[in-house]
Amino acid sequence: MFDKILIANRGEIALRVIRAAREMGIKTVAVHSTADSDAMHVRMADESVCIGPPPSPQSYLSMPAIISACEITGAQAIHPGYGFLSENAEFVQIVEDHGITFIGPTAEHIRIMGDKITAKDTMKQLGVPCVPGSDGGVPDLATAKKIGEDFGYPVIIKATAGGGGRGMKVAMNADEMESAFMTARAEGKAAFGNDEVYIEKYLTTPRHIEIQVFGDGKGKAVHLGERDCSLQRRHQKVFEEAPGPCITPEERAKIGKVCADAVAKINYIGAGTIEFLYENGEFYFIEMNTRLQVEHPVTEGIFGVDLVREQILVAAGEDMSFGQDDLKINGHAIEVRINAEKLPNFSPCPGKITAYHAPGGLGVRMDSALYDGYSIPPYYDSLIAKLIVQGRDRAEALARLERALGELIVDGIDTTVPLFHDLLQEPDIHSGTYNIHWLERWLAENMPD
Ligand code: ADP
Repeated sequence: MFDKILIANRGEIALRVIRAAREMGIKTVAVHSTADSDAMHVRMADESVCIGPPPSPQSYLSMPAIISACEITGAQAIHPGYGFLSENAEFVQIVEDHGITFIGPTAEHIRIMGDKITAKDTMKQLGVPCVPGSDGGVPDLATAKKIGEDFGYPVIIKATAGGGGRGMKVAMNADEMESAFMTARAEGKAAFGNDEVYIEKYLTTPRHIEIQVFGDGKGKAVHLGERDCSLQRRHQKVFEEAPGPCITPEERAKIGKVCADAVAKINYIGAGTIEFLYENGEFYFIEMNTRLQVEHPVTEGIFGVDLVREQILVAAGEDMSFGQDDLKINGHAIEVRINAEKLPNFSPCPGKITAYHAPGGLGVRMDSALYDGYSIPPYYDSLIAKLIVQGRDRAEALARLERALGELIVDGIDTTVPLFHDLLQEPDIHSGTYNIHWLERWLAENMPD
């Protein structure tokens, strides 16, 4: 086992990794930009290294700075968290070339899944059901129009290198194809340096259901059921829960096995998420994330396992601490993402926290790097806290969420907490009947910006 690991991230996820490492008796090294000298992850780690100025490209994305920090401190492994360098195959290769262990999948698996066309091809071959669509990349507008006619509108044009909801455009009919095709290409080029796009049938009322998988890199893999992340704004998740309110135990066992078998076949190592759209009882693969997800705590809650601990174990060459038969669902968990943003238009709202009180009590977990007097810098993602609640069933979890949100105090800045208070008044949220468009519609009606 490692003596010391470095966490190439910041905020709540850096804390999350430090906590797991500490319980395993592993020392931790935090890295930080000059804007984060007072950040909680720097205070909580055993050691810290300043790796550059505030802009991420010069600090949290600077591979030489992070490798140097590892060498200076003698850290044997790097945990990338999510975002930043977590799905950067080149980084993984460089880390390994320096004799440091990357706590995550191999560069090859990251590369395959990072290109959505290759990912879809690979998954199809591994027996995972996919959204009907173009066979690989679509070279020009004429081909795109032909595909639109063949499949029938609406269709969605997606950049193969896309991520974070960018590089995706819907064409409702033939007239919209030209602008959608050109925009998706331009966005792919501008944001990811790759203008290759592909086309899928646009599902009109799906839920977003994702399967958590975990592999040991030696051909053994398990699934940890699903998360329903259908409540999205601009293709970004805001509220996640496990198990999915609409998924039956039979469906879970079936799709879970398909996913676990698929990743076992490729000797996948560590945590991964296979994302699906789910409509009329069918699952359609959309992408795989080769990292820990923001919403992993809801899965940890219902299965009672520590996924970060498990990531560290398998990265060190040890066996996973559980097999499929050990994994039993217990209750229901919900996570809400609390952002430093001003409603109704969700504009970033960094600034100084003048008072902070985290909720507690039975079934409440607060993953956050906030503290009284902390100044949220303006340079990074606006996620400041994840409130995770768990109950014996969904109704109890929802009641607990309302109670915990009521206890939370974050003064000095605006946050998205009022959104969740409002959502908890909605019958559809209580009945669990929502699809990926529900929140956008609700926002348009109730919080026009
Ligand atoms: P990203 O990598 O940018 O997150 P994804 O492929 O995971 O992109 O898609 C993100 C979201 O976009 C999905 O959760 C869903 O809301 C929507 N989406 C993607 N593909 C389709 C599709 N074929 N039909 C309908 N909605 C889709």
